[in-house]
Amino acid sequence: MTMTTTDVKALESRYVLQNYKRLPVVFERGSGSRLFDEHGRSYLDFISGIGVASLGHGHAGLAQALGDQASTLSHTSNLYFHPLQGELAARLSALTGLQRAFFCNSGTEAVEACLKFARRFWNAKGDRQRTKFVAFTHSFHGRTMGSLSVTWEPHYREPFEPLIPGVSFASIDNVSELDRLVDATTAAVIVEPIQGEGGVRPIPQSAATAIAEGCRRTGALLIADEVQCGLGRTGRAFYSQALGLQPDLMALGKALGAGVPIGAAMFSERVAAAAKPGDHGSTYGGNLLACRAALFFLHELTANGLMEHVARVGAYLERSLRDIASRQPAITSVRGAGVMWGLEIDRPAAAVVDAARDRHLLINRTSDTVIRLLPPFVITEKEIDEAMPLLEAAIATAVKGAQG
Ligand code: PLP
Repeated sequence: MTMTTTDVKALESRYVLQNYKRLPVVFERGSGSRLFDEHGRSYLDFISGIGVASLGHGHAGLAQALGDQASTLSHTSNLYFHPLQGELAARLSALTGLQRAFFCNSGTEAVEACLKFARRFWNAKGDRQRTKFVAFTHSFHGRTMGSLSVTWEPHYREPFEPLIPGVSFASIDNVSELDRLVDATTAAVIVEPIQGEGGVRPIPQSAATAIAEGCRRTGALLIADEVQCGLGRTGRAFYSQALGLQPDLMALGKALGAGVPIGAAMFSERVAAAAKPGDHGSTYGGNLLACRAALFFLHELTANGLMEHVARVGAYLERSLRDIASRQPAITSVRGAGVMWGLEIDRPAAAVVDAARDRHLLINRTSDTVIRLLPPFVITEKEIDEAMPLLEAAIATAVKGAQG
């Protein structure tokens, strides 16, 4: 590579849509839980491309599988059968308990498919009143028009209004509202079992119970958005299971392709039964390359002990974070599970992210005051031991900086 950071920045600022505020570092290579910048400097990656690089970087087995697939066949479209889509759907069906899969390329597309087929279900029954959705405060479901419509923070939504009508937001902390909001016009309730972008908030058990009750009372469908917290990230397959939720539809993405873009919407048989050829589709969705990546990831997760590894290192990470919190009074809450954690602090978290990067630890911030950690599933206790002093020093520095 010969481009300097200055060259990269100049080209991007001239030709790339300026919708991202990038941090001033150029990564050129990765290995396991580490990234290397253009000067060859190593960083511990505790954000893994926002929860995507589940197997870490430069994974030899994944590279071999993808190389093999790319040299055999990458894409044929959904005009034809290919050998991998059914196999992947069967694996996801076994893992989720939902019988059928639709493949797409991102989390937001998986959510769109869930919203569309929740409506399609009622439409096929001839119930044209049931078109509404109930979502929650602090939710984030993606950036396309449907997903955006059920995303809570006004700053994501308002510049693009009008969005789809008939969406109401219930407070995740005061679920008594659900009695009023979920009714015979509700197509579906959509919830993230752990709200990710909204501040790494596992939803309270009382909320989960009220959601299940609201759906039972009215027949409304339940959509679990497991894009960020699902697929083993919490040390169990899906966090909705921990909450006793039984969704009719589920959105998946992020970790599934271990870096290759793929999303999936999962449907119960009765929801899937409403789908007719031509109702929905995707040119790329579920192509051979993406399916091969996802099959490789799922094999690691379920047959090679990765889920148990996440449960083990996740418990270790939790203890380490709570230790830090016991020494750093700026931390007001430690939330999460497995390899998905948020540290709420009593001030904006951006300074901590910068101070951590100065120490070659990559984390990010979500919802202003929350430090988020999404290390790769393959993170080790040794790497956690290496990262924790860097994180604590970054928090201490940011707090001192703010006071000084
Ligand atoms: N749903 C949840 C819970 C997410 O966290 C995200 C992304 O952060 C999305 C949906 C959207 O996924 P994508 O950015 O792949 O479209």
